[in-house]
Amino acid sequence: MKLAIYPGTFDPVTNGHLDILERAASVFGTVYVAVAKNIHKNPLFTIDERIKLIKECTSQYPNVKIDQFEGLAVDYAHKVGASVIIRGLRAISDFDYEFQMALMNRHMNDSIDTVFFMPHEDYTYLSSSTVREIVRFGGNINAFVPEIVKNELIKKLRSK
Ligand code: ADP
Repeated sequence: MKLAIYPGTFDPVTNGHLDILERAASVFGTVYVAVAKNIHKNPLFTIDERIKLIKECTSQYPNVKIDQFEGLAVDYAHKVGASVIIRGLRAISDFDYEFQMALMNRHMNDSIDTVFFMPHEDYTYLSSSTVREIVRFGGNINAFVPEIVKNELIKKLRSK
């Protein structure tokens, strides 16, 4: 059974991420959601908060595990014995960056492949940053994140 990692910032996790994760979990034996510390992106949620939210939204998948990592995704994949990196492709605009990163990762470790999944069309224009912006300006995000994520976003952004 193949082990895969799904690395990302998940600031916060959205229905788009969960769509990709569900597809990946039905194909691979185990999927590690690998939450990047990513201090350069200056995340809204701390690493512990991001992990807690993902855990609460994925408890129904017995083969999904949540972990954190710092540094290169290929090194993390190697460390946990994974041979696949999962990424999501929303639109052509993602392609350039993802293609470059997949080839660079393969250059660094040829035994690890990147596998892309496409989300449901409803999520192709969805990102964590748009969700954060909508909440900041008082918009409705019910269709884009689980209830618990919505509540934490409102709490966090209103306290600022
Ligand atoms: P990163 O900083 O690594 O891009 P993100 O949390 O933004 O972290 O994204 C992690 C992965 O999830 C990326 O492959 C991204 O393309 C994918 N992703 C993000 N949002 C969506 C979505 N709405 N539908 C499908 N894939 C998505």
